[in-house]
Amino acid sequence: MVARGIILYIEDDPGSQRLVQRILESHGYKVLLADGGLSGIELARRERPHLILMDINLPDMNGREITTRLRGSSGFEEIPIVALTANISPGSRERALAAGCDGFLTKPISVATFPTQVESYLKGRREELGEKQKIQHLEQHAREIVERLEYKIYELEAANERLRELDRVKSNFIVLVSHELRTPLTLLEGYMHLLNGYILDKVSISYPKELLELLDGLSKGVNRISRVINEIIHVSRIASGTLELSLGPVQLSIMMRNMVRDLDETLSARGLHVALERLEHLPFIEGDGSQLGVAIGNVIENAIKFTPDGGEIFVTGRLMDNAVDLVIRDTGIGIPTEEQRRIFDPFHVLGAIDYHSTSKSAYQGGGLGLGLPMARGIIEAHHGRIWVESVGRDDSTRPGSTFHLLLPIRQPNT
Ligand code: ADP
Repeated sequence: MVARGIILYIEDDPGSQRLVQRILESHGYKVLLADGGLSGIELARRERPHLILMDINLPDMNGREITTRLRGSSGFEEIPIVALTANISPGSRERALAAGCDGFLTKPISVATFPTQVESYLKGRREELGEKQKIQHLEQHAREIVERLEYKIYELEAANERLRELDRVKSNFIVLVSHELRTPLTLLEGYMHLLNGYILDKVSISYPKELLELLDGLSKGVNRISRVINEIIHVSRIASGTLELSLGPVQLSIMMRNMVRDLDETLSARGLHVALERLEHLPFIEGDGSQLGVAIGNVIENAIKFTPDGGEIFVTGRLMDNAVDLVIRDTGIGIPTEEQRRIFDPFHVLGAIDYHSTSKSAYQGGGLGLGLPMARGIIEAHHGRIWVESVGRDDSTRPGSTFHLLLPIRQPNT
């Protein structure tokens, strides 16, 4: 059966919802329900109802605010919006009409007359205020909106403060756990070292191959845990501003050549090629070579991880006024534009973490989401800047990503 019309009822009380729905449906209307302002506005925009029944006291926005919002949306200038409320305090009808309602019905509704009332609004009935009354109530409506806005800003500020506090608690917890793990891990590393040394010393003994393989596996595992924990501690130092730089002259061309040489095995295993272009002409920059190595290394590692086998990575340098712009471009999957700022936030990784693997080189291998925050922290400690350009992410067309690392040639006050 074709409905006589679609009616959206914005109301948070289930009892009222049920009653109105039952009455109107028995008269052939299709009734949509929303129990809040935001969901109501969304439903209205999506379903384009023929009439909207609006409760006034709602949990998020009040009915007057929702009406004003809808009246400002294209396509809702003429749709009848009728207040349906138990609030019959003086002025509530006038304020509802001033806010943009076309009618004002009060609860409890009468089963006998309600459908006729609804039909009359559908057929064009409009209640209007005199000009003077309208201005007066519009002013009050505007004041109420501003007051509510002010209150909401306070609420948001308090919620933000709470979030910052939770963030601090989370960061402290992570750092504390990392430090706690560091102690037993140092012991483990020590024993691994002793064990390896012991086996190497006893060249005359031929140990079973399986035993040596087990030992090798154990060693790799311990190294990996150690690397993860060091990363966390490193990022927390950067975040707390306690990272100390040991400044000296840094030649980026040599640093990059050594880095690529050290990655040779990984690159060949993945069939990747890193092209170093126009780095020789760059001047020495002032910086902490080992920290900068970590920062640039993290960006290169990502380029490796997010470029499929056989791809290319280009590293070039441009001399700017007082800085060097090191540009690392890959031919990988790219990064969604909406994520391009957030990837520099700690622990921000894209995609489902269910498929997480902490591989430094496997295609799309995951990590802790600390590589780029670490790079940003180190570069900012050098008074530089890091950003990414990418047209978006596409696993099949692979638009690639281009990271810019802008590093001042000289550090201030030195
Ligand atoms: P991780 O240390 O886990 O690799 P990062 O902080 O280095 O984390 O990077 C955060 C996220 O940014 C990665 O999980 C990845 O989704 C995205 N990303 C970083 N670099 C690239 C890149 N070159 N290409 C595509 N995505 C990238």
